[in-house]
Amino acid sequence: MQNDIQEILISEEEIHAKIKELGSKLSAEYVGRNPLVICVLKGAFIFMADLVKSITVPLELDFMAVSSYGASTKSSGVVKIIKDLDASVEGRDVLIVEDIIDSGLTLSHLIELLKSRKAKSVCVVTLFDKPARRTVDLQADYTGFVLPDAFVVGYGLDYAEHYRNLPYIGILKPEIYSS
Ligand code: 5GP
Ligand code: MG
Ligand code: MG
Repeated sequence: MQNDIQEILISEEEIHAKIKELGSKLSAEYVGRNPLVICVLKGAFIFMADLVKSITVPLELDFMAVSSYGASTKSSGVVKIIKDLDASVEGRDVLIVEDIIDSGLTLSHLIELLKSRKAKSVCVVTLFDKPARRTVDLQADYTGFVLPDAFVVGYGLDYAEHYRNLPYIGILKPEIYSS
């Protein structure tokens, strides 16, 4: 698996240090608010697990799986809910935990959905951001790392469902895509 990686962009140590920083900021933001922290599956599962350990205020967790692609291979901007939340978001301070923001389509529709379900507030924390690829006007409230326009894997992010278990973020060798 490691042999398939051309370059490590961000090391495990750098990721962990950044998550501690994000956790402190979010702990300050959510004092006394009991946020509902929502993990967008699957990519954000490792980030979610590490992040909540760095948040020091009481919170609740929920999980959601969405796809913006439907039957087509291009992002349609229509969020298809694969797995919905267990609990209601009405009146809750919601924190969406994302792995990476690319076009921004998935997230913008998810934000609208949660607002339409009467969440009291909706905040977004993303570990990675590729602003160069944005097609909708959207910015996370908290961002870990800004990345160049490249397809990355590791730390929860996959290529064809593989590489999620790499502890760092890297770029695959070009021959992996063509084989
Ligand atoms: P968006 O709707 O912002 O275009 O889609 C974002 C989703 O696409 C992310 O949550 C992630 O699942 C996937 N994605 C975007 N960029 C990358 C990338 O560089 N690597 C991987 N593995 N997935 C990505
Ligand atoms: Mg995601
Ligand atoms: Mg994926």
